[in-house]
Formats: sequence, structure tokens, C-alpha cells
Amino acid sequence: MDNFVYTTQPFRVVFGAGTVSSLGEEVGRLRCARVLTLSTPQQEAGAAEIARRLGPLDAGVLAGAVMHVPSGCVDRAMRAVEETAADCLLAYGGGSTIGLAKALALRTGLPIVAVPTTYAGSEVTPIYGITEDRVKRTGRDPVVLPKVVIYDPALTLGLPAAVSVNSGLNAIAHAAEALYAHDGNPIVGLMAASGIEALARALPLILKDPGDADARAQALYGAWLCGTVLGQASMGLHHKLCHTLGGSFNLPHAETHAVMLPHVLAYNGPSAPSAMARIAKALGADDAALGMHRYAAALGAPLSLRELGMPADGLDHAADLAVKAEYPNPRPLERAALRRLLQRAYDGAPPA
Ligand code: NAD
Repeated sequence: MDNFVYTTQPFRVVFGAGTVSSLGEEVGRLRCARVLTLSTPQQEAGAAEIARRLGPLDAGVLAGAVMHVPSGCVDRAMRAVEETAADCLLAYGGGSTIGLAKALALRTGLPIVAVPTTYAGSEVTPIYGITEDRVKRTGRDPVVLPKVVIYDPALTLGLPAAVSVNSGLNAIAHAAEALYAHDGNPIVGLMAASGIEALARALPLILKDPGDADARAQALYGAWLCGTVLGQASMGLHHKLCHTLGGSFNLPHAETHAVMLPHVLAYNGPSAPSAMARIAKALGADDAALGMHRYAAALGAPLSLRELGMPADGLDHAADLAVKAEYPNPRPLERAALRRLLQRAYDGAPPA
């Protein structure tokens, strides 16, 4: 066994159907008294309902979270924090809402309680991102890591099936890259493999019946594990490519992950055979890359960058960007091979 370092992240997880009812108690444990609830405009009604549960702890709702956390949105939210004299931020929603809470925590040091409603996993990472002048700046700071995460699968029943599938594949991508990360370790490996397995089992059931409570619980459990390893191991080519494609070509976040993952697994396969064996096993497939491609296809996930709106004449630029920055990856970054990878992803061809 190789030597390793394992750092635990100090957060508390409350998991299970109906656990949102413990919100007031959890806020009390943090010794907070004025909670500002954050959400996207689309989830305002749910946020208001959650805030009502807080009774006297409710300091207001701000339904202003936007994808990629634009800095103007953070400035507006800062005014709400000041006006309400909030001493706690409650993030009700997916990565966009949790991202806004993190940006506010970075400026104010206020504690975050997260109630995630997608599988993106931001609630268990110390990673933040803020977009200014169309550039997303990311960083790590323990102050943005939520103090408490309440995973209540009952709150995810309304996440549309197709969104659930893409969000779940996004989570699987975190775990897949954690399995071959240079700074991974046996504990991260266990969580990553179990996370893929739980999501791989749950997503087809959710597609069949979005109201399947047990499948929703399995998926949220998987999302927690996958998010945790995203926060603990360095991500490689897949996350870099998705970040580049999202930022430079404005492609949708979760869908881009769904399209790219099988291709990146094929690229990295020869350099990370034991990670690939674990991914294949968790998927119940013979081969990680092909297994992931077939799995995504069976779920009706997008298979090509073309259908996400990627311009064909952007592929060369994307390949240039992919080799430009230094980041850890099991296989060295070879421009010609990456350009071929991007072409296959653009066309929706099986990974090779
Ligand atoms: P999202 O938060 O943008 O949500 C997508 C849409 O689904 C929104 O309109 C939202 O209101 C809606 N929605 C969410 N939950 C719902 C539910 N249960 N029912 C109905 N509608 C619901 O999407 P996301 O994929 O969760 O997050 C993506 C963002 O998170 C990206 O910006 C990504 O960069 C970031 N992210 C950050 C980290 C991190 O560690 N910092 C990790 C993963 C993702």
C-alpha cells in the first residue's frame, strides 16, 4: 500500500426523508438566531416554505441565486445580509444557490447550513467560484464549507428526471476522477466507488419513476459521497475540459459533464487501469469508458457536444486551452489525442 495523507472535513450531515424538520434544531446548535434563506427564483416557493419552518429564526428569503455566481448577484445578496442582520445563511437548492452562499460566507465568515436539492455536491466541498467579467475565479477556503448539510430526499422528488440524470452523471464524474487522483487515498477510493455504485443503481429507477423515494435516497447518498471526494482529491482532465468548455463556449454545466466523461475515461484508461476496473465494477460493466457511454445513452443523457450548442470551429481552441494550463492527470496531455477526443465528443461517437 502507498503512503497517504487523509484530511477530514469538519461538517455535520443529517440524512433521511423528513430531516428538513430538524432545521431549527440544527441552527440552534450553531447558536444562530437570524437565518437568511437563499434560493434561485425557480425555487422561491420551496425556500419560503423552508423559511416558515424556522419560525422566529427566519430573517428573510432571497431568491436571487444565478448559475455561476456572478459578482453583481453577490453584491445584491450582501445588501440583503446587511439589511436582515443575518447571522446564518441557509442555502436551499443546487450548486448555484450553494455557490452564492459560499461567496457570501467568504466575505462575511457567516456559517452555512445547506439543504441540497440536486446531486452536484458543492455542499460538502470547500471550493467556491465567483464570475466577474465572464471569468469564473475559483478557490478553496474552509470558511465556505457548510457547517451542516441536511440531505432530505423528499425535497428532491420534484427534480425533473432528465435534470436528475445529468446531475447524477456530474456527481459520478467527481468520483471517477477521484479514483485516479494523484492525491487520492484508500478512504477516498471507498467513498468514490460506493458513490458511483449508489448513483448508477438509482438513476435508472428515478428515470422510470421520479417519485421513487428509495431511489431518491440512494441517489442523494451517492451524491454526498461523490461530492465529498470532489472536495478531498484533485480533479484532472475531465473537470478541466468541462470548466473550459462551460466557460469559453457557455455550455450547460451538468450536461457537459455527461457528454465528456466516457471520452475522458477512454483517454485516461491506459494510465489508470485499477481506477478503470473499479469504475467498471461500480457500473456493472466490463469496460469503464464504454460502460459509461452505454449507461448514459440508456438514460437518454446528451451524448454530443454538438447538441449542447458547441460550435464546430471551437474544437481547436478547446484543445489548445486543454493543454495550456498545468493540472494533474494520470496520462500526459497530448494535444493531437485531445483534439481527437473532442471531435468524438462533438460527434457523439462512442469513446475510443
Ligand atoms: P443549479 O443549482 O444551477 O440548479 C439547476 C436548476 O434546477 C435551477 O433552476 C434550480 O432552481 C433547479 N432545481 C434545483 N433543485 C431542484 C429541485 N429539487 N426541484 C426542481 N428544480 C430544482 O444546478 P447544479 O447542477 O446543482 O449546480 C451547478 C453549479 O454548481 C455550477 O455552477 C457548478 O460550477 C457548481 N458546482 C460547484 C461545486 C463546488 O464544489 N463548488 C460542485 C459542483 C457544482
